[in-house]
Amino acid sequence: MAQLSDDCFAFGGPMMSVDEAVSIIAARVTAVQDIETVSLTAADGRILAKQISAPLPLPPFTNSAVDGYAVRSGDLAQVGEQEQALPVAGRVQAGAAAQGPVEPGHAVRIFTGAPMPQGADTVFMQEDVRLDQGRVVLPAGLKPGANVRMAGEDIPAGHSALAAGQRLRPQDVALVAAFGLTHVEVRRRIRVAVFSTGNELVSPGASRGAAQLFDSNRFMLMAMLVRLGCEVSDLGILKDDRVSLASALKNVAGTLDLILTTGGVSTGEEDHVKAAVESVGTLVLWRMAIKPGRPVAMGIIGGTPFIGLPGNPVASFVTFVHVVRPTVLALAGATQQHLIPMPVRAAFTYKKKIARREYVRVNLRKGENGVLEAVKFPREGAGLLSSLVDTDGLVELGEKITLVELGQTVGFLGYASLI
Ligand code: AMP
Ligand code: MG
Repeated sequence: MAQLSDDCFAFGGPMMSVDEAVSIIAARVTAVQDIETVSLTAADGRILAKQISAPLPLPPFTNSAVDGYAVRSGDLAQVGEQEQALPVAGRVQAGAAAQGPVEPGHAVRIFTGAPMPQGADTVFMQEDVRLDQGRVVLPAGLKPGANVRMAGEDIPAGHSALAAGQRLRPQDVALVAAFGLTHVEVRRRIRVAVFSTGNELVSPGASRGAAQLFDSNRFMLMAMLVRLGCEVSDLGILKDDRVSLASALKNVAGTLDLILTTGGVSTGEEDHVKAAVESVGTLVLWRMAIKPGRPVAMGIIGGTPFIGLPGNPVASFVTFVHVVRPTVLALAGATQQHLIPMPVRAAFTYKKKIARREYVRVNLRKGENGVLEAVKFPREGAGLLSSLVDTDGLVELGEKITLVELGQTVGFLGYASLI
């Protein structure tokens, strides 16, 4: 089973930076070991269990990159700046075996993807030549080797082409297919249970009391987990009650790889998640220096890692990205994919606290000279779902920054890159 080692709990107490949190997780989480074999059509998004080396070169044989005429470059060497006419002898299409070597002083009609006839090493594009009574008239000045794709020029045989831990993307699946493989070995999906906590919450579809709201975080978190390749169990909403929370947690622990909750982890009187986890397992509050964000509860219940996220939707989203995402990737056996912000120009000013990482919700627009500019969402509340829905991503402001001035370069993370 996937594991989170006990000494994660040495890190409660003082403020922790986002990078510290991520490196602690990456160093201490053990990945699932079970391996499954899946077909190519089921491989997208799965985590490769073993490295794949090229069983054959790509391309597998030397071939023409264009429709045209294949020649021996040695035949062209003497002609200097003159056009040269060569008789056309033979024709080779894609998929057809080349019929013997090209005769010296001759050209062979050839099509894209067709194997180069023996002896030929250069192809003239059909657009660059003319035909004259069974001969092809070739312009001067083409480099020997032009328009030919050499066997193995893309990937040589034996090359380590995909590393273990790679989260397979469509282009990776294409590479596996190009190798002629029908299946890949991947780690099994990790199983994550999700529930929300709060007496004020009801599920969409249920009847809502006057002081209640529909639970939205659970559906956001489940969707994010599915995008990360997890198998998700929806455990609904739990009341703000230590005893029922504790028994629900105890029931699911041991049957899955991660328990994720939202709400109830601040230090208020009605925040019972912390006490519930402590009664059935171990827990520490990670006080991360991050805004939007609140303490994140990290725990282990019956051997199963537990993460308790804050209830405010934006805090929940941002802490998911920085705590749950690296944990899920580590549990799943995936190579950590570090988030690389893209430089854009700030079309806003902003003051922030030193030693804290802050995320500003922004839209991108094309400014002067086509330079991308980040426009700040006008409101900042951590409860505003509209601030996530109506924006393109987050500007990341590092711990050392205290002020953002108009026109300053800042780092942008698009939502699609976060999950
Ligand atoms: P809490 O972290 O439980 O103190 O909740 C902080 C705020 O987030 C409260 O206003 C909650 O009503 C809200 N909240 C908590 N859980 C959810 C949820 N699952 N969906 C939407 N809002 C929530
Ligand atoms: Mg609550």
